[in-house]
Amino acid sequence: MKGYVFHGPGQSAWEDVPDPGVQEATDAIVRVDAVTICGTDLHILKGDLPEVRPGTVLGHEAVGEIVDVGADVRTVRPGDRVLVSCITACGRCPSCREGTYGQCRGGGGWILGHLIDGTQAEYVRVPYADLSVHPLSSTLDGRDAVLLADIFPTSYEVGVLNGHVRPGDTVAVVGAGPVGLAAVVTARLFSPERIVAVDLAAARLEAAKHFGADAVADAREAPEQLVADLTGGLGADVVVEAVGTPEAFEVCTRMVRPGGHVANVGVHGKPATLHLEDLWIKNVTITTGLVDTYSTPTLLRMATAGRLPTGQLVTHTFPLTHMEEAYDVFARAADTGALKVVLGEEPHEEVVPYRAA
Ligand SMILES: [Zn+2]
Ligand SMILES: [Zn+2]
Repeated sequence: MKGYVFHGPGQSAWEDVPDPGVQEATDAIVRVDAVTICGTDLHILKGDLPEVRPGTVLGHEAVGEIVDVGADVRTVRPGDRVLVSCITACGRCPSCREGTYGQCRGGGGWILGHLIDGTQAEYVRVPYADLSVHPLSSTLDGRDAVLLADIFPTSYEVGVLNGHVRPGDTVAVVGAGPVGLAAVVTARLFSPERIVAVDLAAARLEAAKHFGADAVADAREAPEQLVADLTGGLGADVVVEAVGTPEAFEVCTRMVRPGGHVANVGVHGKPATLHLEDLWIKNVTITTGLVDTYSTPTLLRMATAGRLPTGQLVTHTFPLTHMEEAYDVFARAADTGALKVVLGEEPHEEVVPYRAA
């Protein structure tokens, strides 16, 4: 079969790789029908995640059909259409027993396209299938579903829920890429008073308005001042960091009100300064996290009911064989306007993607 293989920083290719097979009794083999590319994959290609070994097939988000299962798999069988979660869960270790599947110590966690071969391929082996894939309704479009493998649970759990968004809050989302936009969408579920989106790119700020931001600010123009003006000088109740740079994190800590929350979602490759000389007196809670995906069943029900516009984030679709072109379009998002790119499954007609004006 073909897969998208990482060969070291700056080197990758869509090429022949061995077909995966069942290795453990808890494995499932999934034929990939829809797959997407994550910003984290770009970090891997840059060499920011040295634990990813050359030769690894990338990708941790997919929709597909079960084609084979090991003897101990109970909840899915060949022919089932499933979502492959970015997080694999053994279900037995102390972390999984607490629902913190992202921190699984039994061989799960974020392993697909990281520590083992991932989903950017024609087939993928999913360990601990019972807890690591989710059966899909036949009515849910693959493009809607595939965004629930990572970015929607990540934004919701690590941004909105860790940030304790409540009705009437002022929520600032710093970074209006796919994860930031998903944070805007899921923050709105709690009826905040307002959502302020911050980004460097005018096109992404327009997208943020489309997805529900009430105000937007250019990151270069003192966005903390806009938040202060909107809140009578107080600051935001919740600030979600969805960029992963020291500057973005530090502006978040300047935007938050005393007693508020800063929820970091961004993947950081460098240290950031924690300004305790300002923060020590402000009762601020700062959270970090890797998604656990405990919310995926809830989000799937909402998407199936048409209550989450997930597929609208998909700006580009390609056949699976066009992986290298898709990476190029996604990596040059400032030029191409890409939010999420999906390879594989043909969309249903009623999914209307967001298009910049
Ligand atoms: Zn991801
Ligand atoms: Zn576990």
